[in-house]
Amino acid sequence: MNVADTEVIFSILAKAGFERTSTIEDADLIMANTCSIRDNAEQRIWGRLKQFSQQKKARKDVLVGIVGCMAERLKEKLLESGEVDIVAGPDAYRRLPELIAAVKPSSPQIDVLLSRDETYADITPVRTDTNGVSAFISIMRGCNNVCSYCVVPYTRGAERSRDPRTIVREACDVFSKGYKEVTLLGQNVDSYRFGDVTFADLLGMVADVDPSLRVRFSTSHPKDISDEVIAMMASRENICHHIHLPVQSGNNRILEKMRRRYTREWYLERIAAIRRAMPDCGITTDVIAGFCSETEEEHRDTLSLMDEVGFDWAFMFAYSERPGTLAARNYPDDVPPDVKTRRLNEIIDLQNRKSLECYRRDIGRKLRVLVEGPSKRDPSQLCGRAGSSKMCVFPAGGHKPGDYIDVIVRDCTSATLICDLTA
Ligand code: SAH
Ligand code: SF4
Repeated sequence: MNVADTEVIFSILAKAGFERTSTIEDADLIMANTCSIRDNAEQRIWGRLKQFSQQKKARKDVLVGIVGCMAERLKEKLLESGEVDIVAGPDAYRRLPELIAAVKPSSPQIDVLLSRDETYADITPVRTDTNGVSAFISIMRGCNNVCSYCVVPYTRGAERSRDPRTIVREACDVFSKGYKEVTLLGQNVDSYRFGDVTFADLLGMVADVDPSLRVRFSTSHPKDISDEVIAMMASRENICHHIHLPVQSGNNRILEKMRRRYTREWYLERIAAIRRAMPDCGITTDVIAGFCSETEEEHRDTLSLMDEVGFDWAFMFAYSERPGTLAARNYPDDVPPDVKTRRLNEIIDLQNRKSLECYRRDIGRKLRVLVEGPSKRDPSQLCGRAGSSKMCVFPAGGHKPGDYIDVIVRDCTSATLICDLTA
């Protein structure tokens, strides 16, 4: 999401006459678009700020801006170091040129107002990816869910959906520029709603842009993912069969305490519904280890759920208390750090085994892959994703980024399918 937002920021700044530099040493304005989701994301930015300060010392007139969630969360506190000139929250990007122009020595500028309707719908993002194959399209902003551990509703404000006509226009625009895949982004895409248009409708509208434009989306919320969305995915060739469905925990008491508003049973039923409609659907998840008061038995419920579902892969995190959230205000962060780490490691070990099993099941299968570019490990090979989102590597064979090709899976690791080209 921050990559997509940064593309909006580039567009706004380009209109105001700014150019992007390729190295920090050439920049008059250095900005970091930040994440607050876990403490270590913020710690990394504090580290980067030291690097920016060196630039300020070395060259006069260099401006430093902190934008995004950390700007929204910390507000004036970011100015205390004296090293930051601009602080702009996620809904203040249109004002960046104005804020930059108004900065004077000892007069930093700040705008952290959240909006009810800003979606940057009319701004054409300046794409920052280099492969020219896959583009992000933001379809909504903010979140109304208030899961007890999560800082997002505080840093990104209330949920609002973007006009579907502007989304379709953006998809047509990237397709006309040669892109072959769009990923529709929102914190909870299933609650997308614009007038009568639901997320299932929107998926259909974007899939209609062209049969050779693949459509992906992220993130689905288990309480909201509907039969209509599943049916729409199953009915269209160019909507990729991959759902990222963050479960967070496999225990009902913890899920309740997290305010996720579904149960283990509900989650497993949604998985079954997805697999009934699309047996080949890639399913991935997010898991939090060591949430407040989690017992050993409750942790084992998470392991048993992961074992039962067999996710393709997962993002796995130790719980990180975020100031101001319901959990931080009401529950002590009482799972000791060493226990949290051990539980997280058990979760990671299990997932690595399950990923390997899942990837191995594809050996011998024929898959359709969209070529993205050279493989990182071996640049003489190409890489690209299957519909399930699994990464494939295969011989170049004269193919180029943006081509659709069929491959046969020969071997795998727990994160990559090693493939041959079909004859
Ligand atoms: N909107 C998405 C998730 C966005 S945040 C959803 O509801 O599924 C991405 C992931 O970060 C979450 O799924 C969760 O696993 C993790 N996360 C969020 N807050 C966290 C916290 N305080 N500590 C650890 N992990 C957290
Ligand atoms: Fe955070 Fe929950 Fe909203 Fe996801 S749905 S962004 S976890 S509050």
